[in-house]
Order: sequence, then C-alpha cells, then structure tokens
Amino acid sequence: MPDPEQRLIVLSGPSGVGKSTVVAELRRAHPDVWLSVSATTRAPRPGEVDGVQYHFVTDEEFDRLIADGELLEWARFAGNRYGTPRRPVEERLSSGLPVLLEIELQGARQIRETMPEALHVFLAPPSWEELVRRLTGRGTESEEVIRRRLEAAKVELASEKEFDTTLVNTSVQDVCAELLALITASEV
Ligand code: 5GP
Repeated sequence: MPDPEQRLIVLSGPSGVGKSTVVAELRRAHPDVWLSVSATTRAPRPGEVDGVQYHFVTDEEFDRLIADGELLEWARFAGNRYGTPRRPVEERLSSGLPVLLEIELQGARQIRETMPEALHVFLAPPSWEELVRRLTGRGTESEEVIRRRLEAAKVELASEKEFDTTLVNTSVQDVCAELLALITASEV
C-alpha cells in the first residue's frame, strides 16, 4: 500500500499568480475534489463564507489552535495568520483519499519537513511581465505597496526549484485539468 502522504498535494506559488482563482474554479467544476479549509485571522472578503473559503477565527482562537497542536502548519502572511487544521487532513489521508492544500511558501516548507512524501506543485506566472500586470492589477494600491509585493514575488519565484513540479498559469481551465491529473495519479 502506498504511503498515505503521497496523496497530499501542496499547491503554492507567488502571490498574484492566481492560486485562489484556480482553487475557486476547481471547487466549482469538481466539487468531488477535497480541499483543506484553512483557519485564518484575516477578515472575510465580500462573498466569502465561514467554513467554505476559510474558517475565520480570532487571534485568541488561532493562539489556541497552535498551542493545542491542531495545525499541520501555519504562517504569517501580510499581517494575518493562516494555518491548516490537522485532523481533517490526517483523517482523509489515512482513509487513502487525496488532499489538496493551497498555501503560501513558508507553510509549504513546513509540510516538506513534516510530511516528506507530499507532492509540491508550484504555480508559475506565464511571465514576469504578466505577474507585474496582475499585481498592479486594479490600480488601487499605492506605489509603495506594489513595490513591496513585487519584491516578495521575486523571492517567491526564486523558490520554484524547491518544488517537485511546476504548472504555468496560462489558463485557469488548463491548470485545473493538470492539477486534477496529478490528484488522480496520486490515487493509483
Ligand atoms: P488570501 O488572504 O489572499 O486568501 O491568502 C493569502 C495567502 O495565504 C495565499 O498565498 C494563500 O495561499 C495562503 N494561505 C491560505 N491558507 C493557508 C494556510 O493554511 N497556510 C499557509 N501557510 N498559507 C495559507
């Protein structure tokens, strides 16, 4: 029997690359694929529902989750904390079912340490220019914020070599199909 950790797929990549769009499309088109729902201290955005995109928790609740060892990994990102609840992931994996985590780089590195058999997938932008275009996007952020995000993106892009495979986000549909193929392959 294959190691249950081999069914764990970690999707990561620079902010602005479109990870959450890919995951939203996967939820819509393939509700059968099980996605871990993270806990976060950030406030819900319009349209986000507690328990669907995230479990929205207070700082105190997040402290408790850490103290009780209930998170598989966690990280600070842009002033908030994000973490993967341990139990649902472990239950799925021990039943032999695939699990998809969509997390940022520091969390992916923790998983690399604690669950070495997981498959790490890097979502890359089609080009640096395209990432700049997406991060500059709505044109609502100050130049300073955009500059900091681009600096962070450079660091994140340099981490690609730590990953087992790269998917280039040319189209959301294509990336979803490629991710599904990886998930299906993990079930064999
Ligand atoms: P957002 O606030 O835009 O939903 O997410 C910000 C970043 O946090 C994204 O890069 C997302 O992948 C990451 N993230 C979401 N959930 C988790 C988690 O449970 N752990 C870690 N380490 N990162 C997460």
